Formats: sequence, structure tokens, C-alpha cells
Amino acid sequence: MMLSQTVTFGGSALDRAAHLRADPAVAGQAGARAILLWRGKPMVIDDTLVQVPLDHPVMADTAPDLILLGRDDAGPVFAADLSGWTPPDLDITHLDTFLDPSEQKHPAMPAGAGFFELRAIMTRLTPRDAELAATAKAVLGWHDMHGFCARCGAQSVIAMSGWQRDCPACGAHHFPRTDPVVIMLITHGNAVLVGRSPGWPEGMYSLLAGFVEPGETIEAAVRREVREEAGIHVGAVRYLASQPWPFPASLMFGCAGEALGTDLSIDRTEIEDALWISREDMALSFAGLHPTIKPARKGAIAHFLIENWLADRSYDGGADAP
Ligand SMILES: [Zn+2]
Repeated sequence: MMLSQTVTFGGSALDRAAHLRADPAVAGQAGARAILLWRGKPMVIDDTLVQVPLDHPVMADTAPDLILLGRDDAGPVFAADLSGWTPPDLDITHLDTFLDPSEQKHPAMPAGAGFFELRAIMTRLTPRDAELAATAKAVLGWHDMHGFCARCGAQSVIAMSGWQRDCPACGAHHFPRTDPVVIMLITHGNAVLVGRSPGWPEGMYSLLAGFVEPGETIEAAVRREVREEAGIHVGAVRYLASQPWPFPASLMFGCAGEALGTDLSIDRTEIEDALWISREDMALSFAGLHPTIKPARKGAIAHFLIENWLADRSYDGGADAP
């Protein structure tokens, strides 16, 4: 496996079976089953996605439209949304917080099974489960936010096994969105540029990142974001690896860039702080031994990019192979 594919959500060569999306009989195929999500939280048991046959009692509480995620040797795999169901003892204190630690259980499921925040479990899932969960969370999240036609405002309907919405009023078709984000390992000699946003855990610094704007290349977005946020001009930029990031709908483009200088001019409206940190200090931080700097979260591509920089690993020269 290529280094770039070893990142969390780096893919599992899932057969997405796009040719079956228009087939109304696909749910009747042998081995058809569903993974379960509640308000974006996948159900897992012992760090494994729960999969149920489509006639399982829990399916009585799911939305009628299933999302076809793909197909494997056992049959088609769907995502089923239980967001319309309310757990009997629901405590909303932690819902929609960054690392929601709460767990919801469904009475039709085994005691060990629960709905968990994907960020909290993502590094423990297999690549296949991570791809299924990320895809399901992103597509269901898109449906949740796009119930009405962006062209004429009429209520739209789900189509193509969840991969499209059609507008009955104006005939427009709408497709799930993925928003490109650049995240960059900006280095100067032996040091890497890191920053932090307000509200992050104390001492945590990560790589700078930002949305790619319309009409902009990935490389231009890297240079613009670093100049805007930290006042640093960047020379050569190269692509390293990407990561789907379904919080809610991003695709992270991990890049490396060479800073042309080190004088920081921080835009405090964009970020709280930025600084250069040496390879030695970053290694201490990753080992949990740095007195003040905490590293990017494990599972995020920033952690992956910095870890590989510390280990001097190279990225397959841009090549990709399944
Ligand atoms: Zn319309």
C-alpha cells in the first residue's frame, strides 16, 4: 500500500457499484445489509461497524430511503439513517460538541452496540469500515442540509440510491458536494509552520489550512492561505496526500510548501497564533514530552503529514495504485 493511502479515511478500494444506483431491485439482492447512523454517528460494537440485514427490527426506525454505499463479495451495503428516532433517555448535553463522548443505544440492538461520534473512533476502524462510515456520514449530512432545490427553492426528492436529489418543480438534478480544503506542511530549513484556532485544547498547534476558492488552483490556495494567515510567502508547493473529511463535507489536500522567509505577520481574525517549531521540538511534542506544545490530533491528516515529515518518509513521487 502506498504511504498516502495509510492516512485515516485513506480508502479501501470499495466497489461503489455506481451502475446499480438506478436499479430499484438492488435492495433485494442476496446479502444486502445496512450500516446504521444516528445524527451522523455510526453504530459500532467493539470498534466494528454494525451491519444488519434489511429486515432487521431496527430498520423499522430508519428513514425510508437507503443510501447505496457499494458492494462487496457478500452483497450490497447500504447506509440507513435513524436520525428521526429519539433514544428514550436522550441526554443532549454533549451532542454536536467537537468530541461528543456520549453514546446512544437502540433497544433492538445488542447491549454493546452504540452510536459513537466518528472523530472519537475513526482511528480504530478498519480502512473498509472507515470508508463506509465516512461516505455514509457525508452523504446523509448532505441530504440533511439540502432538502430544497438550490435553483428554485422547491422541496427536492432523493434519487439514485441517495447519490442525487431531483427537483419535481424545475427538473434540476443536484449531487452530493465535496468541498476542497488545502492543508499545508510549510517548512523552512529544519522548522515547520504551525498555528492554532481559538477554542482548541490549550497548547495544541496544527498545520495551517483553508478552503480552496472558486477559480483557484490547489497550489495557489496554499500560497494565499499561508500569506493571509501568517504573512509568509511560499515558493515551491507539491501535493502529498489527500483525506476525505466528512465533518461535514471536506476533502483535505495535504501539500508541502517551502517558505521563502520566516518573519510572521499573524492575522488574528483568522487564527489565534502561529509559530515555527523545530523538528526536535516537534518530535518532543509528538512524544508527549514538550513542555507547552501539543500535537495535532491523531487521525487528522495534519498529524499524518507531520509524523511522516519527522520520519523523513516520502510519498511515492505522486504515484497512486490500488
Ligand atoms: Zn427546482
